[in-house]
Amino acid sequence: MEPFDTWKQDPGWTDWRWQLRHAVRDPAVLSRWLGLTPAAAAAVWRTAQRYPVLATPYYLALAEHADPADPIVRQVLPDPRELLPDADGSPDPLAEGRDSPVPGLIHRYPDRALLVATQRCAVLCRHCLRKRAWSPAAADAPPADFGPALAYLREHAGIREVLISGGDPLLLPEDTLFGLLAALQALPQIEIVRLGSRLPVVLPQRLTPEFCARLGAGLPVWLATQFNHPRELTPETAQAVGNLLRAGIPVVNQTVLLRGINDDAPTLAALCTGLLRQRVKPYYLFHGDPVAGTLHFRTGVEAGLALLEELERSVSGLAVPAFAFDLPGGGGKVRLEPSWRCGALPDGTVVYRDRQGQPRPYPAPRP
Ligand code: SF4
Repeated sequence: MEPFDTWKQDPGWTDWRWQLRHAVRDPAVLSRWLGLTPAAAAAVWRTAQRYPVLATPYYLALAEHADPADPIVRQVLPDPRELLPDADGSPDPLAEGRDSPVPGLIHRYPDRALLVATQRCAVLCRHCLRKRAWSPAAADAPPADFGPALAYLREHAGIREVLISGGDPLLLPEDTLFGLLAALQALPQIEIVRLGSRLPVVLPQRLTPEFCARLGAGLPVWLATQFNHPRELTPETAQAVGNLLRAGIPVVNQTVLLRGINDDAPTLAALCTGLLRQRVKPYYLFHGDPVAGTLHFRTGVEAGLALLEELERSVSGLAVPAFAFDLPGGGGKVRLEPSWRCGALPDGTVVYRDRQGQPRPYPAPRP
C-alpha cells in the first residue's frame, strides 16, 4: 500500500532509528494518504493542533486499507470528536497529579510506585490516558532528573515494585535508561521493575537481542505492553517478544477496550489467542478511562463485561484477561467478572449457569 510499499524497500525500514526519523508528524500527510475531502482534512488538522500526530511508518503499514475506519488508522488519526465536550471527561481522571509526591513519581498503593520517566512516544495513540501531556516541547525535552524520585523511593522502604512508564521509557537514551535501572537495583528493597512500553507493538525493531539482554541483566524485569487488535501481531512483534523472553523478561499485555476497534468478541478472541501464540499473556482488558478527548472510544463498563463473558465461552482460560477499570479520582483499580452464580437450593447447594446458560447445582461439602 502506497507510500509504504515504496518505503519498505528502503534498507533502513528494519532499523528503529530510521523508523523514528521517518515517523509521520504532519496531519496533512495522513489526510492525503487517506484521500480525505478538504473539509475532513481541515477537521483533522484542527484536532492535531490540540492533540498532535505521531506514527511510525511500520505501524501505519499494518493498516489494510487507506481508510479512516481501519482499526490501525483509528488509533493514530486525529478525530474531530476529540474536541467535543465530554461531561465526564477529565485531562487527569485518575488524579495522578494528586498522588505525585515528587515530580514524575506517582505513589498510590503501599508496595509499588509509578515513575513517569519520559513524555516521548513512538506513536501517539488517540485513546492515551496521558494525552494531557502531549506537546512537541514535552517530547523533545531532555530526560527528567530522577534524583527526587530516587530519593523518595529510598525513604519509602515499603515500595518493592517500580513501574516505569511514560511516554515510552524504552525511548530513553540508553545511558539514561540503564542508569535508572542501575539506580533502582542499588535500592535494597526494590524487588521488581515493570516496564510499560508500546514499542513491541509500534516499533518492535527497537527490541534487539542486545538491547533486551541489557534490560534483563539486573533486577527481575517484566514488560507490560498494549496490543489492541490482532492485526498488530506480526512476525516483527514475534521476534521482539522472543528477544525479550530469551533475555528472561516475561511479557504481559494490557488491551484497552476501544469502540469500533476491538469491541466485538471475535476480534478480542483473535487478539487474545494470537497473543498466546506469541507467548504473551493477556493480562488486562481495560475499560477506557474517562480521559478528555476519548469519549468516542468508550464502550461502557457493562458492554465490556458482556464481551468478557462471551470471551470466556469461546477461548481457553489462559487467553482470558482480567477486565478492569480505574475508579475516577484516584479510587484505584476494580476488576469485574461475569457472575456465574444464579441461585441456591434450600439445602445450601449453590446453582451456577453453565457456558450455555443452563442452571447446574454444585454440591456443597457435607459433614
Ligand atoms: S504509547 Fe502509551 S503513553 Fe504513548 S501515546 Fe500510546 S498509550 Fe499513550
